Amino acid sequence: MTLKKSVSVFGVTGSIGASTVDVLKSHTDKYVVEAVTAHRNVDALAKAAIELGAKCAVIGDSSCFADLRDALAGRGIEIAAGEDALIEAAERSSDIVIAAIVGAAGLKPTLAAIRRGARIGLANKETLVCAGALMTAEISRHGATLIPVDSEHSAIFQVLEDREETRIDRILLTASGGPFREWSLKDMQSVTRVQALAHPNWEMGAKISIDSATMMNKGLELIEAWHLFPVAEEQIEIVVHPQSVVHSMVEYPDGSVLAQLGSPDMRTPIAYALSWPDRIKVDAPRLDFATIGRLNFEAPDTNRFPALRLARQALQEGGTLPTVLNAANEVAVEAFLNDRIGFLDIAGTVEKVMTRLGSEPLTSLEQVFETDAMVRRETSACLVSAS
Ligand code: NAD
Ligand code: MG
Repeated sequence: MTLKKSVSVFGVTGSIGASTVDVLKSHTDKYVVEAVTAHRNVDALAKAAIELGAKCAVIGDSSCFADLRDALAGRGIEIAAGEDALIEAAERSSDIVIAAIVGAAGLKPTLAAIRRGARIGLANKETLVCAGALMTAEISRHGATLIPVDSEHSAIFQVLEDREETRIDRILLTASGGPFREWSLKDMQSVTRVQALAHPNWEMGAKISIDSATMMNKGLELIEAWHLFPVAEEQIEIVVHPQSVVHSMVEYPDGSVLAQLGSPDMRTPIAYALSWPDRIKVDAPRLDFATIGRLNFEAPDTNRFPALRLARQALQEGGTLPTVLNAANEVAVEAFLNDRIGFLDIAGTVEKVMTRLGSEPLTSLEQVFETDAMVRRETSACLVSAS
């Protein structure tokens, strides 16, 4: 009998969280659950904790403590609330932490898990964008392991596996192009929240759905890929592939291009982050190539999707600029979701804040937290002065 691995799921009530619950529930012979966390959704957190038999459930918003206590009364599950409790939950011993909080809010708990040398299944790409090389340095220092959950990066990781030494010529990061792939800039001016939330291929949380519509998601993924894989910025090319079947590709010096394919179902990369270096069964829909018929590829349009240009600029200039890009984008997306700004104003706001603040050398994690907080204030002020 093989020993079970213990898993903690941060952001268990979200879209990635729900897919993780699904995978874990079908492999109770392999995994036990240590801690589960959420921001405010007490009912969904309590349900996940019970279903998974978690030892501990933590709610980030401390005003929800009493509700969580009532929801889990008599269940024998430890409970806690507040930001520090999230960090403590990450410090609890578990072999694997699935990092599925959305935004830079996930950074502190993820760092706590890194510092005890855990395996991190990283969905929360914003942490790698805002803390970059400082986060990867912590990973090496503490002997932690980072396995990407983002489907594109999981694809690249699967293709590259055991080939650390192989020189790569190019990474071809595929992008669906989002719901407005064929829209003119003029039509994108009046995009509504509902239209932007309706992704053609993937069902995801609100923030990443908007990021996919602006293509900032691919911009964040460009920066994520640069931190995860041994390539220079100019070796990462973005290719629009509307069917989301080829999850990304790697080109080798002999001209070979290797790809990972699958149906657009996040349970596959989540399962791989859990089971690596093995594979476990997932009932994701199987690809039927005759039904799919054809796969299309096209170049991205940075004129209609300026977020791609801004993310590349942030990666090229480095320093605090990716931290600025990420925080400004989080605030702008939230403002769009609250009907405070238009769709094209999202990238417009990010560009304005990036130009105003510029880049400074990034030397410490404290500086990441300070920059993140400062950019949030600046961006909010910028939104107020624009309205
Ligand atoms: P979601 O909005 O559905 O879920 C977010 C989760 O984080 C929830 O459990 C929520 O309670 C928690 N959370 C939010 N704010 C928090 C805070 N301040 N403190 C503590 N917890 C907080 O988001 P999602 O779509 O599941 O995405 C999660 C992450 O995974 C994002 O970084 C996203 O970019 C990435 N990702 C998602 C997908 C996808 O298919 N959904 C694919 C690739 C990567
Ligand atoms: Mg992705």
